[in-house]
Amino acid sequence: MKFSPQRYKISDRSMVPFIDVDEIWDILQNTQSTPESVNHIIEKSLRKNRLSLEETAILISANDEESIRLIKEGASQLKQAIYGNRIVLFAPLYIGSLCKNNCLYCGFRASNKEAIRLTLSDKDIENEVKALEDTGQKRLILVYGEHPKYNAEYIAHTARLVYATKYKNGEIRRVNINAAPLDVLGFRTVKEAGIGTYQIFQETYHPETYKTYHPSERKADYAYRLTALDRAQEAGLDDVGIGALFGLYDWRFEVMGLVRHANHLEACYNVGPHTISFPRIQSFSEANISDKYKVSDEDFVKLIAILRLAVPYTGLILTAREPEAIRDEALKYGVSQIDGGTKLELGAYSETKNETQNLNREQFQINDNRSLGEIMDELIEKQYLPSFCTACYRKGRTGEHFMEFSTHGFIKKFCTPNAILTLAEYLEDYANEATAEKGWTLIMHEIEKIEDEKILLQTLEKIAQIKLGERDLQF
Ligand code: SF4
Ligand code: SF4
Repeated sequence: MKFSPQRYKISDRSMVPFIDVDEIWDILQNTQSTPESVNHIIEKSLRKNRLSLEETAILISANDEESIRLIKEGASQLKQAIYGNRIVLFAPLYIGSLCKNNCLYCGFRASNKEAIRLTLSDKDIENEVKALEDTGQKRLILVYGEHPKYNAEYIAHTARLVYATKYKNGEIRRVNINAAPLDVLGFRTVKEAGIGTYQIFQETYHPETYKTYHPSERKADYAYRLTALDRAQEAGLDDVGIGALFGLYDWRFEVMGLVRHANHLEACYNVGPHTISFPRIQSFSEANISDKYKVSDEDFVKLIAILRLAVPYTGLILTAREPEAIRDEALKYGVSQIDGGTKLELGAYSETKNETQNLNREQFQINDNRSLGEIMDELIEKQYLPSFCTACYRKGRTGEHFMEFSTHGFIKKFCTPNAILTLAEYLEDYANEATAEKGWTLIMHEIEKIEDEKILLQTLEKIAQIKLGERDLQF
């Protein structure tokens, strides 16, 4: 792996790339598993401990039916214990498709002359946000290509604009960012705009493969990208998200890379990543890449269950790239956040005419086209508790502090009541009659499960206030 010291302060250990390819392959190739060893590791995970690389490798190498059953059951149990039946919802908002890079798998790559290059104007952004608010969204992730125009100041400006845009009872309460790596100063600038999570996907943790798929411009520097979230931590931005694009290289290596990255952040800063994303390349022929490392549905569900067990307190995000059937499985075994009502075409949320999809305005295709209303209805029907909660970040419970809070009792005290309150708001303001009826039944059912009398009374009080028109009530 090439490391150029002039780009980093060499004395700063945290900026030194921390992925050792030989170490990871050595562990993967020399690990064998039995149902007994799998069971032993799952027990550790159920005690809410992170797993080491060696332990993760044991789960990865498990291929017999009994071990797979144990992994899925363990993941499902852990998910219930930590997250309950809550599912957090968000929507992506693409801000601009200008890009200097040439990632071979991406529709926005600079060499794709067919791609329509757009940057939403401030007015466009306001219109998009209002349209999203009008469906009930409260959490957005803003997505940018990698281009000098989308620098830290611009990202901070757009985040502030989104927060300031309100429509009827709607408002965006958490703006997450998916953009290019910044320097320390840049991360400070976006932090000051009040962003939630800064998400950077490594795409692939395998340096040689990384080089193949990122041939030019800034993104060609594997190490600069890998250490980006260390710079974010140095800037005081402790709420970060990592991710890998599955299908570029061996999925087993990528899972190990993600776990190594999570454990690195935890070891160096005492706070792991807030979220992990693991999008799968869907259309290999259109993306012009070999399907050698295509991840089967079976392996995909297995890897989600393994990630759940390996990093118990990290949110797992699944996007609308995946079809409905896979989403259902993923929710069972570990995913805690999904997007709803996603439109990837720039400017599409506020468009009423021109319903025809234009692939040249998209970075990739999605396979779940349901509206937020449809997804909410289905989650409620399946007894999941949809949540738009943003309380922790707004009350300063992030990073290290968040880890302190994430102990036994936290969910009952904060997450469940907050999920109930945000669902109550949604039902009052955005749901159709049928969804509202089912939703209130679910809320009553959830309220019955609250054991602490004080929290129960406060929840009931806040619901009464919501019914009277108050909004943004939280624990
Ligand atoms: Fe640009 Fe991102 Fe697409 Fe790469 S993945 S070409 S950086 S928009
Ligand atoms: Fe997340 Fe905090 Fe809300 Fe729980 S209370 S759902 S941890 S923001």
